[in-house]
Amino acid sequence: MCRHLGWLGEPASAASLILEPANGLLVQSYSPRRQKHGLMNADGWGVGFFDGQTPRRWRSATPMWGDASLASVAPALRSGCIVAAVRSASVGMSIEASAVAPFTDGRWLLSHNGLVDRRALPLSPAAESTNDSALLAALIFARGLDSLGETIVDVAAADPNARLNILAGNGSRLIATTWGDTLSVLRRRDGVVLASEPYDDDPAWEEIPDRHLVEVTSSGVQLAALKGA
Ligand code: GLN
Repeated sequence: MCRHLGWLGEPASAASLILEPANGLLVQSYSPRRQKHGLMNADGWGVGFFDGQTPRRWRSATPMWGDASLASVAPALRSGCIVAAVRSASVGMSIEASAVAPFTDGRWLLSHNGLVDRRALPLSPAAESTNDSALLAALIFARGLDSLGETIVDVAAADPNARLNILAGNGSRLIATTWGDTLSVLRRRDGVVLASEPYDDDPAWEEIPDRHLVEVTSSGVQLAALKGA
């Protein structure tokens, strides 16, 4: 299980979203507060952001807290759309940077919190790695993000024990699902944060109910129950 965070709004620095909050992804990498599966997220980290229309990524297979350069670069890394994650590899999954979110198809950045039986997923030559999250990302990209809700319901039918929290962004939209793990939303004056768990104790954080689809655009946040829920 991992923890992820998405931002859509005015350009904000990765440091302000990930490193500076009292319980941001950096702290969640060693001391998450709401994680139900796994104790910490030491198997890598990724920061993805949009540079105009272009998704760019910085990923590592080492713990976020040990990175020698992130604290120096993250304040200068500003974007109106950011998708970042810290990883706790599931048993049997490879530990390498290409297995760490965010994954991309060249248009979207996508993260998965959860676990799914790889036998429930099609093999894909487009997958960036061999772990469940990379295979799931390839399937979601192939079916299109507009079908994310249907894809999640279909994968859950193939593996009823799957946990399928997805977070994806394309520069002008964030789309997320809750299916087995936590997700919260914070509406700020300058934008919207979606995060596996609140990065601080602001009472404005709201929990998203399980088995929902969330979409964030410049016109606001929309929630819909997923079929099969
Ligand atoms: N199943 C995931 C993996 O090993 C676990 C990390 C996560 O929650 N995305 O890649």
